[in-house]
Amino acid sequence: MVDKKKKKTPAKKKKIKKQKEVSCGDKKCPIHGNVTTRGRVFEGLVVSDRMQGTASVEWTRWRPLPKYERRERRRTRIKAHNPTCINAKKGDKVQIAECRPLSKTVKFVIIEKIK
Ligand SMILES: [Zn+2]
Repeated sequence: MVDKKKKKTPAKKKKIKKQKEVSCGDKKCPIHGNVTTRGRVFEGLVVSDRMQGTASVEWTRWRPLPKYERRERRRTRIKAHNPTCINAKKGDKVQIAECRPLSKTVKFVIIEKIK
């Protein structure tokens, strides 16, 4: 009986170690850091990657214009944190998710690149 209990505990510890092994050293990384995503998720194009650890993501949406029975093109541009393990470049299509405010203007994180 005592031996069975001893065997169970090391197996649990190994699983935790495997998750911690891979890390990019970025505190604000949604996968390796301590940032959790919640709220809205968007897809967009990286317009600028010149800021340190931040990228500008843009996408278009169509707003209806009832008076002229047409629709107009509107652009949304949002600053998102660019984790070192993802490292999105200008022209990349990415998916961003809402998170806690990471700085004055950054409230989103890049989750993944879309091909
Ligand atoms: Zn990472």
